[in-house]
Amino acid sequence: MRAVDLIRKKRDSGELTREEIDFLVSGYTRGEIPDYQMAAWLMAVWIRGMNRSELAALTEAMLYSGEVLDHSEIPGKKVDKHSTGGIGDKTSLILAPIVAAGGLTVPMISGRGLGHTGGTLDKLEAIPGFNVNLSLGEFRRVLRECGMGLIGQTAEIAPADKKIYALRDATSTVENIGLICASIMSKKLAEGIDALVLDVKTGSGAFMKKEEDSVRLAEVMVETGKRMGKKVVALIVEEGRRLAETMIATGQALEKLRQGIRLQGGDERVIDEPERLPIAGLNFHVTSSTSGFVTGTNCEQFGIALAMLGGGREKKEDKIDHGVGLEFHKRIGDRVEKGEPLATIHYNSEAKLVEAKALIAGSYFFGEKAPRGKRPLVRRIIGA
Ligand code: URA
Repeated sequence: MRAVDLIRKKRDSGELTREEIDFLVSGYTRGEIPDYQMAAWLMAVWIRGMNRSELAALTEAMLYSGEVLDHSEIPGKKVDKHSTGGIGDKTSLILAPIVAAGGLTVPMISGRGLGHTGGTLDKLEAIPGFNVNLSLGEFRRVLRECGMGLIGQTAEIAPADKKIYALRDATSTVENIGLICASIMSKKLAEGIDALVLDVKTGSGAFMKKEEDSVRLAEVMVETGKRMGKKVVALIVEEGRRLAETMIATGQALEKLRQGIRLQGGDERVIDEPERLPIAGLNFHVTSSTSGFVTGTNCEQFGIALAMLGGGREKKEDKIDHGVGLEFHKRIGDRVEKGEPLATIHYNSEAKLVEAKALIAGSYFFGEKAPRGKRPLVRRIIGA
């Protein structure tokens, strides 16, 4: 078998067999297939798509590229949640300690920033000392001790996703239902969990801009999880909400976060002293060019602007500048006067500032009236 023939086959809309997909994934993971051939194949998949059997084969090839964890020595249920990617999304950082404080074990394997979106691992690394590259032994120790561990894909767990994820980020091959499903489910199924909640984003800041595409992504992920014997749902139940509220109100979730940061080598003082987090040296207020109401935003452009300023990667090897960020002063529905600040950009390098400023300023839409009603946070529950 040759990679070049499989690239051509997909380019010409052919269906790849399980053996062909295994050959590509295992060859790339072992370093026998170079980045440029994998990138070409990913682009062919992005354009031509995959059918259900190809998707199942890709997910399984990526899942079994490394170990599938077994946490049966830890009592109780092991659960996780995964978001499909958005702007300013910090759900995992909040939810993992709440759930662990509630008595469940959360062995979370997350990703880095992808495309215009931010990644949990990059956010965690903003905490001085925080180590997302625990060995398997260390991960197990942290899980036993505090009930939650947050790490990235490793050479042992989901190594194929580790490499393919970074390559997709730098080759514009992210926003594809099959590739997203295989990436997420290969990591999540490797975690040794009993149940998974998927938080599938939709809208301008998400990979899936249209609700019907997000629904399709949710359906294929739920179907993939169920086929592999997992309970996969996309909802918050009332009982879970009440337990979560108690964990927050009693401070138990915050204590769990503190313990988790400490056990992964991070400086837990950031919780009470957030000024210990990296802060960029420079800032600039983006002001409104008009008076009116904010009727909408283009969140994807915010993400692209931040990436330009060093908050994301353009090449696989790029390092994130953790001090870069956007502070929002106006939200959808807010009244704004001409000249009022809409957002503050925190940055360290002037290199692409002009372009980034223009992107941010152009990402606000205004009208004479506030938009009616709030859009629901959870639009649909799939797989319940
Ligand atoms: N999250 C992932 O882990 N992978 C994707 O492809 C998209 C979001």
